[in-house]
Amino acid sequence: MTILRHTMWCPSYRHKTFPTQIFRKLLFAQDGHQVVVLDQSAFYPGGGGQPYDTGAINAARVTAVSLAEDGRMLHHLEDDMSFTVGEVVAGIVDWPRRLEMLQQHTGQHILSQAFFQLFGAETRGFRIFEQVAEIDLTLDGSQDELTAAIGQAEELANAVVFEDRAVRLHTVTPEEAAQLPLRKETFNTDCVRVIEIADFDWSPCGGTHARRTGEVGLIAVRGWERAKRMTRVQFVCGGRALRDYRAANQTATSVARRLSVGRDEALEAVARLLEEHKKLERRARALVELATQAEAQELLAATPVTPTPRVILRIFDDREFDEVKLLAHRLVADQGVLALLATRTRDLVRLVCARSADLPVEANTLLQPVCEQLGGRSGGKPEFAQGSGTRVAELERAMTEVMASLTR
Ligand SMILES: [Zn+2]
Repeated sequence: MTILRHTMWCPSYRHKTFPTQIFRKLLFAQDGHQVVVLDQSAFYPGGGGQPYDTGAINAARVTAVSLAEDGRMLHHLEDDMSFTVGEVVAGIVDWPRRLEMLQQHTGQHILSQAFFQLFGAETRGFRIFEQVAEIDLTLDGSQDELTAAIGQAEELANAVVFEDRAVRLHTVTPEEAAQLPLRKETFNTDCVRVIEIADFDWSPCGGTHARRTGEVGLIAVRGWERAKRMTRVQFVCGGRALRDYRAANQTATSVARRLSVGRDEALEAVARLLEEHKKLERRARALVELATQAEAQELLAATPVTPTPRVILRIFDDREFDEVKLLAHRLVADQGVLALLATRTRDLVRLVCARSADLPVEANTLLQPVCEQLGGRSGGKPEFAQGSGTRVAELERAMTEVMASLTR
């Protein structure tokens, strides 16, 4: 009794259920879950970048399928089923998952051959993830060149899909394989499983495939990046491509609705909005400058010219720190001024200490104990220093102590 693994997951096998026999039962020591070996199996055990099948054996969920070292296929069961050796059971492959995987996998054959035919680029890696699949290509060029090349390969791949070409499985000897125009090297085995996409691609492969290229559905490139001196292309095929289109369309439509424009005008509308935003930001900055200047003049007018230093202490709530720093700069542009300003939120205080050029005081030395008292740190120069702390409740006391030390 051997596992018919080379024939059972071939493309001609389209039944959702298959009859089989329990050949052996095992218990996995780590977590006690049950594993069964069948006399024949249609489950794909994973490999070549493609995940394993899931499904059921009778009513027991098959959560994973793996290959043992002796080549036997292990069906990992979620439920503790009391199967007996020799019992005839029904294996059920989760068909939506299998279809999704074979669409990505066959799509990869097509896309890889498209890159090879157009640019001589070889596929060095292939992985199917939860949302996307990716291939690593020996393809190089500038950003624009790669964008154009990937677009061309995508066009060719989809043309092959639209032509609905036959996908055929051949089992050949290594000698026969050597005569075929294979895209990649064969493995060193007695017989070689070769997948042919009519008049397009020949590849040795042990995965699951579509019967015709039409079954793959749309092949859509989602994105690409340079990785490990290769070009990594992310793509989605078939049902995934449809879901991806729906999600992208919904995003674009929702953005457009918020901007009160049609979907295809959204990009232009966002560009306009960003431009306006930039203008407003520039205007806001100019207004803050003016307001800060006026505020500084007001504070200076309220502070007597003698004695020096003319100490200005202020605590602000939730004020932008950049604004507070700007105010400090404006204040010390005048003579004999020492400014210690703080802005606080519920759990953070940020402080700035600045002094006029004519004062001998060191702002950084002055600020350091204040920030330490607030449980934080400070840094800067004698003329301008800044810091922060998290003991917000200590702020007023710390400021009062500084004031007292200056007037002593
Ligand atoms: Zn394959």
